[in-house]
Amino acid sequence: MRSSLDPYRIREEFPILRQKVRGGKPLVYLDNAATSQKPQVVIDSLTRFYSEDNASVHRGVHALSERATLAYEEARRSVQRFIHAAEAREVVFVRGCTEAINLVAQTFGRQRLQAGDEILLTEMEHHSNILPWQMVCAEKGARIRVVPINGRGELDMEAYARMLHDRVKLVAVTHVSNVLGTINPVREMIAMAHERGIPALIDGAQAVPHMPVDVQELDCDFYAFSGHKMFGPTGIGALYGKAALLEAMPPYQGGGSMISLVTFDRSTYAPIPQKFEAGTPNAADAVGLHATIEYLEGIGMEAVAEYEHELLEYATHTLERVQGVRLIGTAREKASVISFEMEGVHPHDIGTILDQEGVAVRVGHHCCQPLMSRLGVPATVRASFAIYNTREDVDRLADSLARVREVFG
Ligand code: PMP
Repeated sequence: MRSSLDPYRIREEFPILRQKVRGGKPLVYLDNAATSQKPQVVIDSLTRFYSEDNASVHRGVHALSERATLAYEEARRSVQRFIHAAEAREVVFVRGCTEAINLVAQTFGRQRLQAGDEILLTEMEHHSNILPWQMVCAEKGARIRVVPINGRGELDMEAYARMLHDRVKLVAVTHVSNVLGTINPVREMIAMAHERGIPALIDGAQAVPHMPVDVQELDCDFYAFSGHKMFGPTGIGALYGKAALLEAMPPYQGGGSMISLVTFDRSTYAPIPQKFEAGTPNAADAVGLHATIEYLEGIGMEAVAEYEHELLEYATHTLERVQGVRLIGTAREKASVISFEMEGVHPHDIGTILDQEGVAVRVGHHCCQPLMSRLGVPATVRASFAIYNTREDVDRLADSLARVREVFG
């Protein structure tokens, strides 16, 4: 049975996709794991906010400030609803997934880590879920340990079970790999960590745009994601944290908005989430994120996941038949990301020829250099799909790869 979602109708809502590139080729945008395009309703929400409501939130007594504050806090409630958090104060607005993880590393991490402690990561982590931990570990004399993957790009769960011991102070794992597409069994991993009293942070950058996420059902302690990968504005994202943990954490940055009382000797802090939102917040993009969430709720995340799964299967079968293509990442549970290489052709050359055909893919290490070392490749070509991609897009990719074969013989 085919999914109910109509990608052609959805495409019409994304003005950027109407353009032609490289001498009149219709654009095939397959770089969604890097950033997604924006529907008109999201673009309009930003224009409306700046045209009608713009003011500094939380501080003004005037009409505009009141409206902007209301819109900002409504946006927070929309995130709460979207990820099924128990309370709106468990949602902290940040610049994106990277800032969310740095926030946890610099507050929770610095507070809890001691010499000899360990943080468990996996071989498929994005640099955003490695560097923040490396920095705090270096400061505290703690160390990172890494759960290995198998040849399909799935986590070795037996190794994970063995590595969960008393020195581990946090498990930080990606929900979906941005290179392999693997959907990790995070619910099970969180339960296993909790059995030993170890909290878990989930990097949801590649999950939230593609499937329903329920932080209470997952029982994760922290969940991080970016707006721009889910058809929302850049510069806005969210950190979910369980209220009790957020309350016990020290602030991240100091400044306006995050205080209760300030003297030159000492200060007291605002309650969560304001404690973590120093400075004038990015209210406009929070409003844009709210519009994005309503847009996705209108489609339904179940429908999104179902449609993208069908498209992934079609793309997998199609690319497997292209001569010389080797898929990288064949996990049983996958989201709509396909990495591959082509015998005898450097990924950058493939990317350049595809671009000439109007097909936008990503080539490189995808901010996962340790994963590239593990896979023994310098780089991959990555096609990543979203709700506006069609089977025609997949066919254009395959035809363009045939063109690469012609060029390189
Ligand atoms: N984690 C993963 C798995 C990602 O794919 C990305 C973005 N490529 C990030 C974290 C970082 O997201 P951002 O750059 O939006 O902060």
